[in-house]
Amino acid sequence: MHEFKDVDGVLFDLDGTLISGNHALPWARDLIDASRGHFAIVTNDAEHTASEIAILMGGFGFIVAEERIVTAGMAAIRLAAEEMPGAKLFIAASASLQAYARTLGLNLCQERPDVVLIGRDRKFSYDTIRSAANFVLAGAKLVICNPDLTHPGREGSIVPETGALAASILACTGPVPHQIVGKPEPGIFLAGMKLLGTSPDRTLMVGDNPETDGKGAISVGMNFLKVG
Ligand SMILES: [Mg+2]
Repeated sequence: MHEFKDVDGVLFDLDGTLISGNHALPWARDLIDASRGHFAIVTNDAEHTASEIAILMGGFGFIVAEERIVTAGMAAIRLAAEEMPGAKLFIAASASLQAYARTLGLNLCQERPDVVLIGRDRKFSYDTIRSAANFVLAGAKLVICNPDLTHPGREGSIVPETGALAASILACTGPVPHQIVGKPEPGIFLAGMKLLGTSPDRTLMVGDNPETDGKGAISVGMNFLKVG
């Protein structure tokens, strides 16, 4: 692969496209080189910060500025902070995303939140479901970092994802309004293009999942290249 033709910038998915678990995929270097440095990463990751992902990528030999990494987890928190500045937030997410929420002025709480935000919380529990479901029924806005139910794990296993955790809350509440942030929703594609300063017709989305990377990219007018 020499370089991508007729594009001003490339958005890469992360898992299954550039990396898989704890290793880089064999085609990752060619993909990144083909973008001639005009790329950003848009990932449904709802556990790590961009800084953590930049460090991970560095360990694989890829220098990626954290400012070039859009994660669904951080995008969801930014959305909550922009729509409801200083809101009381009940968050089911990693310690690093909780810290990020605090830096944006959100007030983390365990009672009467304005917003319930669900990420890939490895400590998700019965109590989390009980609290979140009751807060949502009492009027808190429900924000879900991504709709994915699972992602591929080692040796053919599956890893439960944010959408599965959120589904347990929605099973208790019944149908309630909620906002989903990750792919295939348009938000993080638009954020990625804003970083690159490119228009949809001149931006290529490269990903392994036609349902999320592909459908989402096409819905905002970008071209899609499937890898993996
Ligand atoms: Mg993927």
